Amino acid sequence: MKTIKVYNPSTGSLIDECADMSESDVKIAIDRTVNAFPDWSKKLASERSVLLRNWYELVKADKEAFAKLMTQENGKCLSESRGEIDYGLGFIEWYAEEGKRVYGDTIPTHDPNGAVVVTKEPIGPTASITPWNFPFMMIARKIATALAAGCTMIIKPAEDTPLTAYKLLEYARTAGIPEGVFEVVTGDPKMIGPLFTGDSRIKKISFTGSTQIGKLLAEQSANTLKKLTMELGGNAPFIIFDDAQIENAVKGLVSAKLRNSGQVCISPNRVYVQGACFDKVIGLLTDAVSKIKVEDGLREEFVVGPLINQKAIDKVSALVNKTIEQGGKIALGGKNDEKGGLFYEPTILTDLTDNMDIHNTEIFGPVFAVYSFDTEEEVISRANDTEYGLVSYAYTENLGRAFRLSQRIKSGMVVLNSGSVGTASVPFGGVKESGYGREGSYYGIEEYVEVKYTLFSGLNLQ
Ligand code: NAP
Repeated sequence: MKTIKVYNPSTGSLIDECADMSESDVKIAIDRTVNAFPDWSKKLASERSVLLRNWYELVKADKEAFAKLMTQENGKCLSESRGEIDYGLGFIEWYAEEGKRVYGDTIPTHDPNGAVVVTKEPIGPTASITPWNFPFMMIARKIATALAAGCTMIIKPAEDTPLTAYKLLEYARTAGIPEGVFEVVTGDPKMIGPLFTGDSRIKKISFTGSTQIGKLLAEQSANTLKKLTMELGGNAPFIIFDDAQIENAVKGLVSAKLRNSGQVCISPNRVYVQGACFDKVIGLLTDAVSKIKVEDGLREEFVVGPLINQKAIDKVSALVNKTIEQGGKIALGGKNDEKGGLFYEPTILTDLTDNMDIHNTEIFGPVFAVYSFDTEEEVISRANDTEYGLVSYAYTENLGRAFRLSQRIKSGMVVLNSGSVGTASVPFGGVKESGYGREGSYYGIEEYVEVKYTLFSGLNLQ
């Protein structure tokens, strides 16, 4: 059997391998997903809830094993892996409950002898494709929502991090979630993608990954008119006004940026600092970042781990070099870490302008790109000057300004005076080329149901 080998990005050593499935293997798994739908969708929401809850309890009881595996296959440090598991478990717990609250409506009718009833039905068998940067949470979030709504789901995890997905599958089976309700396939994405998009029995695809592949999948899905959720790339502005609590702002920035070594779609990509506090921010930032170690993630304290693979570190290194060629200055770091391998130094770049490549590129590495600005109007316009619109951060103590930012910034999420975005109860998602659809909260489950209106006429009510 052909296999996919999974390597530890910190050490380069082989961790394990998983199936490199053939087209017929994938088709069989799709059949199972389709065949499991009628029974699963007919279950009571409360019965599905019990199974999701069983799964939640089993995974929670073995959190350390999941955390260690994830640190080994992804590189993020243990404390981050544990945090990601709590975050992902939060979705399973939330949707185990939310599935019981997929309410319909009755609507005042136009028919004197009739009644209008609106119901919500599970959309059908679904598929999903996920990236490597959140190997646990991304899968838990999608599967929990689909299953709670009464849908079945087949998932293709990223080639770099399939082991967490298979472990989640194993625990789901032990929890009593039947075969076919949740399936995992691994193999060539160029083969699997069209099998998902071209199959008219699959009614919805949820994709998280790059905008480029999102567009490709949307194109491929046009023939079968599938409902899509697209969680794509970002180019998040992080704005610090001089009226902000500067220490808090820098703290929020460091934690948001260095999470997963900067390989996060909501990572601050363009840091805008108002002129009067620029030097202070750079001083505090340099001080804070220079204290953080770059290490293998299998340690208790927070460390910046490796990038996911050679392609990723080459891309970050080339982008930093290009920025320097274009006139940027290095305040800290600026090169591959002396440890070698896939480790890159946490880096702070200044003297940047909006026409440099880095301004329009998703950095996906531990690199702070810091720009200065003068006025609120100017920074809003610059923040919006991107094809992306996932999240925007700003720190200010001015309430009116906070409201103006919330209204005028074009992104699916605006986070004020915090560097922390996600939790199960909020709608996560973007606008513009960051995609469409929402995950999390009661909005998330709407993506997996169809709204049906029934007119009951001839009721002889008059
Ligand atoms: P990617 O290259 O788009 O890969 C994501 C997934 O798509 C992987 O499972 C990959 O499989 C698969 N894939 C690749 N080519 C495909 C094809 N032709 N057909 C079908 N599937 C295909 O993205 P990435 O580099 O792994 O992840 C980083 C990107 O994801 C960034 O742009 C980031 O911003 C975005 N992201 C967005 C969010 C969000 O919520 N908005 C969250 C996290 C990441 P293989 O791994 O097997 O190649």
